[in-house]
Amino acid sequence: MVAELERRYPPAWAEEWDRVGLVVGDPSTPVRRVACVVDVVPETVDEALAAGADMIVAHHPLLLRGVSSVAATSFKGRIVHRLIKADVALHVAHTNADTANPGVSDALAARFGLTGLRPLHPAAPGSPAAGDGRGIGRIGELPTPMTLAELTRHAAAVLPVTAWGVRAAGDPDRTVRTLAVSGGSGDAFLAEATAAGVDAFLTADLRHHPAGEHLAAGGPALLDAAHWATERPWLDDLAAHLRAALGVETIVSDLDTDPWTVHAAAPTVAEKEPRP
Ligand SMILES: [Zn+2]
Repeated sequence: MVAELERRYPPAWAEEWDRVGLVVGDPSTPVRRVACVVDVVPETVDEALAAGADMIVAHHPLLLRGVSSVAATSFKGRIVHRLIKADVALHVAHTNADTANPGVSDALAARFGLTGLRPLHPAAPGSPAAGDGRGIGRIGELPTPMTLAELTRHAAAVLPVTAWGVRAAGDPDRTVRTLAVSGGSGDAFLAEATAAGVDAFLTADLRHHPAGEHLAAGGPALLDAAHWATERPWLDDLAAHLRAALGVETIVSDLDTDPWTVHAAAPTVAEKEPRP
């Protein structure tokens, strides 16, 4: 199980700051049922345990920074305790799964039917992941050009549902043919989206100043989706691969782990007008 995960998502393909691979568990323990999740939180652990999973494969690291205790008195320590007591392993494939081809952003690109895919941020020449279309984010052509306003509505319809939905920055009437997508926080790739000459870039966690300055400099339109919604599509690809390669049973979590739970659109002008 671990060997197959590391074959498809080699740890050497992860960013230097990242922490991937087996977090909890013994590689010699047989695995029959795998739960695929974006985040390891009490709710997704409940789901995995209730489904009788022997292993959780997660996108986000449970333990990213230095840890000196996993006592059950802390949020993460409690999760580690629950997993070990239930004999459930935990494996993380994070930036190594972003970089892989197919990887996280391929599943996101597939939701839009993008063709002619190429990496937004290709793996650096000479790095372990270099070549074969690997790298973070994907650029491709939409099956049909649409305006930014249409694409924003379309994105909200094809991505997993969240309270956040999708917001966009730029001229709503701008025509989008070429789209860049990057699952998760894509702030760091704004300059690369501009250099690639795409019409729009969809990612998550965009901020006021970087987004505003990017647009003022003539960069592509931006679509800001919910972080979880941009990575959830990959879980289907992961699960399908594990079933095909290892014959294990899989559970894919549809539990929205995005922290945002409420979204209110501003009232329209008509709604604001006092009633006669
Ligand atoms: Zn992420």
